[in-house]
Amino acid sequence: MDGNPNPARTPALILSGGTVIDGTGRKPIEEGVVEVAGGRITNVYRQGDTTPPAGSETVDLTGKTLLPGLIDSHVHLGLLPYNRFGVDDPIPLFHRFMKAFVEYGVTTARCTGSPDLDWSFRILKDGNPEWPRFYGSGPNLDGPPGGPHPGLRVVRNAAEARAQTLDLIENGADFVKVYVWMTGDLLRMVVSEAHSHGRRVAAHVGNSLTAEEAVLHGVDALEHIRIGEELLTDEQRAEISGLPVRAHDHLLSFRPWRYIDVESDRVGALLDLFVERGVYLTPTLTLSRSALRNREEAVRKPEGIGQMPDAVVDTWERKGWINDYSTEDWEAAPTEWLRQIEFVGRAHRHGVKIAAGTDMPNPFILPGSGLHDELELLHSTGMPRQTVIEAATRVGAELLGVERDLGTVEKGKLADLLVVDGNPLEDLGYLRRPWAILKEGTAVSGAGLARFATI
Ligand SMILES: [Zn+2]
Repeated sequence: MDGNPNPARTPALILSGGTVIDGTGRKPIEEGVVEVAGGRITNVYRQGDTTPPAGSETVDLTGKTLLPGLIDSHVHLGLLPYNRFGVDDPIPLFHRFMKAFVEYGVTTARCTGSPDLDWSFRILKDGNPEWPRFYGSGPNLDGPPGGPHPGLRVVRNAAEARAQTLDLIENGADFVKVYVWMTGDLLRMVVSEAHSHGRRVAAHVGNSLTAEEAVLHGVDALEHIRIGEELLTDEQRAEISGLPVRAHDHLLSFRPWRYIDVESDRVGALLDLFVERGVYLTPTLTLSRSALRNREEAVRKPEGIGQMPDAVVDTWERKGWINDYSTEDWEAAPTEWLRQIEFVGRAHRHGVKIAAGTDMPNPFILPGSGLHDELELLHSTGMPRQTVIEAATRVGAELLGVERDLGTVEKGKLADLLVVDGNPLEDLGYLRRPWAILKEGTAVSGAGLARFATI
């Protein structure tokens, strides 16, 4: 390097000297340089390998790590004003939740269900620089009788399934999500219509279909670990159906996990199917934890709970998740939890594509910090830290089909970037306190780059 700036290229913001974890799966770039101009990443290289353009502003990131902005692949942003949380005006609360994402480095959100399609796509998609970038399904499609959520659309026959899928897509849905009562024949119609318009289909299955059936009907993504019924023997199934029905069983009964041998050939065959079909799995371990471990103080007081308004915490405390578990249910809960952790670990080793999502704003799942909880839980399944970071960056972008623009630190991508002190490959906790967050090249949060807010 001759030290003379290269005058031929457009001046840029040069983020220089930090370790770059680019999200591609490649080894981190030590003493890396990332050039940003016009909202995009214009170059990525090792210090000294090329000369920055003339007139560029250079920021020294020595000792810091630079990564793609994080993606929470399972949230419900449009639900926030509906939940109200006992406040008179839910809109300021909504703004606070949205800002919290970005403060924690979450620059993109995949919204897997909103009550109001118009509101979702008018307000959330137009966005605000201080909010995460929004991709959403709008209201979920369900079979009869339909899940208990506002705005959910129940379809009763193939013609309705087709018409409603088309309506969602014409109104801007980035993908389509089906819910727990969706049946096979209706799902096939939804999948065929969505795919013919280049949209993916995500499924939260559970009552009418198993995950295996949903995958065989062509869904692209599975939400939660609502998997297991297909792995049981007839006797085990009969045992479960003889137990009292609990309030949330239609949405997320984890009872099958009491019986499942995660290392069995049957589980291996199911994972083979997921890999063969290229299905994405967003396990939302934070949701499972919130349900199965909500008696634990640490789970009821996650990081950031002190910044939540009392009304939100009160609502979560009052509603909690589970108030109808029997003693036997609570005795089985630690096993159900552990088996899910083991299952995600095996799914990862098997090659299933795993994305990081939280299911915020379910009880005690916080905007922003909740994703960091999910990352730590994914790491606890045996996923290496770098892979966990990819689950919240590249894989999230691929799941949305926006990998051309997002998910990695590579030339040509939008400059959604996270800069943190320390090395998150040694401790994921470093990701929780970003030094700077950029969205499309603009510093939107964190103290580090505040003076570059106009680049
Ligand atoms: Zn959800």
